[in-house]
Amino acid sequence: MNMPRFEFLNPTTVKDALSLMSEHGKNLRVLAGGTEIFGRMKHGLVSPAYVMSLKGVKALAGIKERKGALVVGAATTLSEIAESRVIADFAESVSEAAGLVAAPAIRNVATLAGNLLQDSRCLFYNQSELARKGFGPCYKLGGGICHAVKGSKRCLSVYQGDLAPALIAVGAQVKIQKTGLSRTVPIEDLFSGKGKNPVGLAREELLTEVILPVRKARSASAYQKLRVRGSIDYPLASAAVFVSAGKDGAIEDARIILGAAGAAPKVAKEAAGAILGKKPRDIDQDMDLQQIALLAVKAVEVVENLALAPSYRRKMAAVMTKRALERALESLRQAEHAGHA
Ligand SMILES: Cc1cc2nc3c(=O)[nH]c(=O)nc-3n(C[C@H](O)[C@H](O)[C@H](O)COP(=O)(O)OP(=O)(O)OC[C@H]3O[C@@H](n4cnc5c(N)ncnc54)[C@H](O)[C@@H]3O)c2cc1C
Repeated sequence: MNMPRFEFLNPTTVKDALSLMSEHGKNLRVLAGGTEIFGRMKHGLVSPAYVMSLKGVKALAGIKERKGALVVGAATTLSEIAESRVIADFAESVSEAAGLVAAPAIRNVATLAGNLLQDSRCLFYNQSELARKGFGPCYKLGGGICHAVKGSKRCLSVYQGDLAPALIAVGAQVKIQKTGLSRTVPIEDLFSGKGKNPVGLAREELLTEVILPVRKARSASAYQKLRVRGSIDYPLASAAVFVSAGKDGAIEDARIILGAAGAAPKVAKEAAGAILGKKPRDIDQDMDLQQIALLAVKAVEVVENLALAPSYRRKMAAVMTKRALERALESLRQAEHAGHA
């Protein structure tokens, strides 16, 4: 696998980065940690004429508080996020998810934006050029078939990012900039839901910040992930849960987000709604949560295109959901107990 030739660009300010992006448009690819994009370039899945590194743009890295919210620079590394006390205080699910991505050597260079904006994956797509030639071009490669499900009318590749479900659960937003324009949107709006082009960011747009909202007084979140090798792998099923309670202890807000569940993280609204109005100590540890988890995984779309069998991944999505719910509710109970002590 050879790296294709490209011209390397190394801006030092956001302004310069944006102007290079508008100048080169679809011929340019942003390089953050490179742990995803370089693999795709070596496989011949993308061959940009220009690669623009964000390493020199110091303004894009770091964690700071602004008006009570937490602003995390797009180029902040996952190690920094996983080890940050302040991130854990704002959102346990986010530091847990960051600490479970790949392995330490990857987390030391991989960035937050790179993690969010990674492409969807499929056993028939993430292959060498030679192997792909044997299969023939699928939807994701511009062809008209899906090798995973014969007769499918669309690409069924899977978005396997760990951070997106955890960030969506706590209501985080992203700031996106292009020359002369800036917009801030909820993280779920980044995703198109289409396997062919899962991330809805225009070529000249740069993700510059992730904003974690002010933490609610009685709230908790948790993240759970299934992978083949605990030391390195992508999620094959994951769940992020956020819960918050009112002064009377009843749950007034809940979110359940499933990862590795289709082309985008899935928001399980109906399942989350089932615990609203209940007190954490009243929710039966086995029955209620099992039913809620089974309701949540109705949204999961799994086919034969990742490492484990779809039926097993679906079952484990429910297990991950139940465990994440248990942990988030337990944190709420403990917080309530500490408040009364
Ligand atoms: C062995 C291995 C295991 C992995 N395991 C996991 C895992 O468990 N969980 C997981 O979530 N991921 C995993 N990954 C994927 C990847 O390493 C991580 O998602 C990582 O966080 C990507 O970050 P990066 O900074 O290296 O991204 P890059 O490779 O630099 O970029 C990824 C994409 O984002 C774009 N991009 C980056 N920054 C910006 C920006 N600011 N604005 C606009 N576009 C931008 C790039 O152009 C590219 O398309 C794994 C990768 C490998 C090689």
